[in-house]
Amino acid sequence: MKKHNFSAGPSILSEEVFKKASQSVLNLNDSGLSLIEISHRSSDFVKVMEEARNVSLELMELDKNEYTSLFLQGGASTQFLMLAYNFLKNKAGYVNTGTWSVKAIKEAKLFGNVHELASSADRNFNYIPKELDNQESLDYVHITSNNTIFGTQFHHVPKANTDLFADMSSDIFSRKIDYSKFSLIYAGAQKNLGAAGTTLVIIRKSMLEKICRDVPSMLNYKVHFEKDSMFNTPPVFSVYTCLLSLKWLMKNGGIAEIEKKNIEKSKILYDEIDRNSQFKGFANYEDRSIMNVTFNLVDESKKEIFDKLYLESDISGINGHRSVGGYRASIYNAMPIESVQTLVDVMKKFENMI
Ligand SMILES: *Cc1c(COP(=O)(O)O)cnc(C)c1O
Repeated sequence: MKKHNFSAGPSILSEEVFKKASQSVLNLNDSGLSLIEISHRSSDFVKVMEEARNVSLELMELDKNEYTSLFLQGGASTQFLMLAYNFLKNKAGYVNTGTWSVKAIKEAKLFGNVHELASSADRNFNYIPKELDNQESLDYVHITSNNTIFGTQFHHVPKANTDLFADMSSDIFSRKIDYSKFSLIYAGAQKNLGAAGTTLVIIRKSMLEKICRDVPSMLNYKVHFEKDSMFNTPPVFSVYTCLLSLKWLMKNGGIAEIEKKNIEKSKILYDEIDRNSQFKGFANYEDRSIMNVTFNLVDESKKEIFDKLYLESDISGINGHRSVGGYRASIYNAMPIESVQTLVDVMKKFENMI
């Protein structure tokens, strides 16, 4: 039996995506060849790349004349340095909302000055800072839209008076926001999009004229754009799984529909955390993420009992990150509501036993 997979990443994809992806590894579109043995320059794969790039922009309702979409390698972690390499001339502003922001800041400092516009480090990153410091003379402002580890999320796009960049690794395509407020968006595929191995980068084309130094080809956005995201061999399987997920999303009503489901799923879980006397939420109420739900036991000494219960119900991947402890249920786009309900039932059962 398939488990209820709450893993933070790599993570759940829709069953349909798993099936179609495995079929295509054996025989792509009845071509008699595997997806992973054909040339990336073959018309079959060129179509995959083109469609994945187009559908990603369509879902975000971004104008194709204004934006382009790239599938790059090296994970979101490479974007931390790549965006600074290309665009950090003097000083950039960063909002520090946790582990991934800290890593982004560390890499940026190799290329210029970093001005921390706000930070929630004072309370172990359990909230989203609302006030940003003075943004004068910044090359760009960078945020992490959803903090996978701490379970906090920006519910409003912060005001930036320069180009706004966002690491959306764990909440891309999960909710309707005005994506055109951003000049650069990136997301590692393995959270809400596809198999690990590629990173989706959405970039405003005018940014390509703002590259501020000589950048080696593989780290240069303009090179990847000019080569249609095929400067070198792309991670074909990963890009293909992204395309399947994007098409699945489109077929099921796009971002507006999935947002409704995501809000419903997270509400069921948060309501139980708030109701149940044995659990407490980690993230500040108004900053709670609809993708990663962090919670702790009121009495840590009961951990073994709860762990045994959820394992018996075929629940997998809810161990919290070591910097928060407790539990983290990642309920990405592909997570069915039934799995969330199963977790809630286990939490109720646990309360009744205690
Ligand atoms: C997982 C994650 C990353 C790291 O992604 P890699 O693809 O492993 O480099 C970066 N940022 C956020 C918000 C994440 O959730």
